[in-house]
Amino acid sequence: MTNTERMAELLFPQITGTPADVEARYPARQLPEGAKVTRLAPSPTGYVHIGGVYQAMIDERLAHQSGGVFYLRIEDTDARREVSGAAEALLRTLEAYGIRPDEGMTLDGDGKPVNRGAYGPYKQSERAEIYQTFAKQLVKEGKAYPVFTSPEELEKVLAADKKTENKTKDWEAAAEEARREMLENRKITPEQAEEALQAGHSFVLRILADGDGEQKQKVTDLIKGDLELPVNDEDFVLLKSDGIPTYHFAHAVDDHLMGTTHVVRGEEWLPSLPKHLQLFRYLGFRAPKYLHTAQVLRMEENGAKKKLSKRDLGAGMADYAALGYPPEGVIEYLLTLLNSNYEEWRTANPDAPYTDFPFSIKKMSGSGCLVDFDKLGDISRNVVARMSAEQVYAKVQAWAEAYDAPFAEALGADPARSTAIFAIGRGGKKPRKDFGNWKEAKDFVQFFFPAYFAIEESLTEYAPADVSAVLERFLAVYDPSDDADVWFEKVKAIATELGYCTDRKAYKANPEAYKGSVADVSNFLRVALTGRRNSPDLHAVMQVLGKEETVRRLNAYRENL
Ligand code: GLU
Repeated sequence: MTNTERMAELLFPQITGTPADVEARYPARQLPEGAKVTRLAPSPTGYVHIGGVYQAMIDERLAHQSGGVFYLRIEDTDARREVSGAAEALLRTLEAYGIRPDEGMTLDGDGKPVNRGAYGPYKQSERAEIYQTFAKQLVKEGKAYPVFTSPEELEKVLAADKKTENKTKDWEAAAEEARREMLENRKITPEQAEEALQAGHSFVLRILADGDGEQKQKVTDLIKGDLELPVNDEDFVLLKSDGIPTYHFAHAVDDHLMGTTHVVRGEEWLPSLPKHLQLFRYLGFRAPKYLHTAQVLRMEENGAKKKLSKRDLGAGMADYAALGYPPEGVIEYLLTLLNSNYEEWRTANPDAPYTDFPFSIKKMSGSGCLVDFDKLGDISRNVVARMSAEQVYAKVQAWAEAYDAPFAEALGADPARSTAIFAIGRGGKKPRKDFGNWKEAKDFVQFFFPAYFAIEESLTEYAPADVSAVLERFLAVYDPSDDADVWFEKVKAIATELGYCTDRKAYKANPEAYKGSVADVSNFLRVALTGRRNSPDLHAVMQVLGKEETVRRLNAYRENL
């Protein structure tokens, strides 16, 4: 037995299988030529970032557009960051956005995460033996070595981590020292390892880097293009002292075994790419293609773009749910960010499902994901305008049930009436676009419900006598069975009688000749009935409010003048 073989047996006596045994459990996927295999690899921290959904969209499109596979792997190697129930929540969020992995951790009929597919387990904490098998091989080949720490030393290291004393250190001297220490550590013999193991010391496994850090290597990122990165010369950690791999090691092993062809991940991983390339080489694996997506930005009021922090509105997907953005709107928005020609395509294909759009990596913008609520609102208003009243009502009701119980109760008391409210201004060639999310929908329609109705705008620029006269005369002629045309003729007659113009051109040509226009007269009715100057069609509003409530509101306004 060579020294490295002895070392491998000492460190991993429990591992009896070989990499070849593991490989046999993960045969090459049988897929059509050009099919892409992608994955989403979230850490279950309980927080779903918009950047994650953005990446998931890329993964999903690349895989499904090429006849490939999109799978989901839970990266739970950092137990400290894990939040229970996070994997379920994440899967449910993806499901709400219609992003469905074919394989991996998926939800079963009861909403519990389960492994589905032949390349699992898809949860890293269930794969310890697999990582250790490859780790053992690396030790055998002299490409990795253990660094032992006694429990006392470990405590010291942890304490030093907590203090900030490192900040004041001379960095060059520190780096020099670390390098010396690294070279010293590499010399460990099987005898020393055996002794340390017997003394109950734990070890981390480090790679034995063979690269020259002064050298550069050419790497192609499919989004960022050709790059020059340094060669890895750092003996980074492969396995932590609990035998659990670092991200780097798990990435190489899992993406190889699971047959990933394209890795889509945040650009914060780009500096680690030399480590990964080194690992793929050491393990004899072919590296996947990489797409590093730019960080998520937000728009400042002055139009400048800033990095979106976790605290900012719109960083977490929970924000979009709480504001009631329909997932279709958010997806549509993300697609405009993903491909520069998406909007043009959408204009030409208003009714096609987005999956018909030929998504292309070449059309991806390097600037990545920008959270811009104005743009999202515009897109989402268009999406909502195309929904039926029944759909809108059902979605607003579901949103209110989760986020606004009193409003849910008001809406749910009379579903037919609520549907009629959302039917106003819907359909036809030019549907109204009053709201892009359900919170805005509530703001827009809440005046229909007595509990929410309030006079929010005033008519102070008009003579109260005029307002009163309009309301009085309207009440005298109001007949709820009038159709919209008859109704409007009555309003115009009142306007003319009181000296308001009913002809737009005539009014524009000579405004001084009138007290105002018929639009002002309508506004008197509008504010009295809805409390605002912006409302859906007034005739339709009165139809939904019904005679009694219409009369009551008009009278009440008059009395308060
Ligand atoms: N678990 C990693 C993260 O959450 C995944 C990065 C990757 O996609 O490889 O950042």
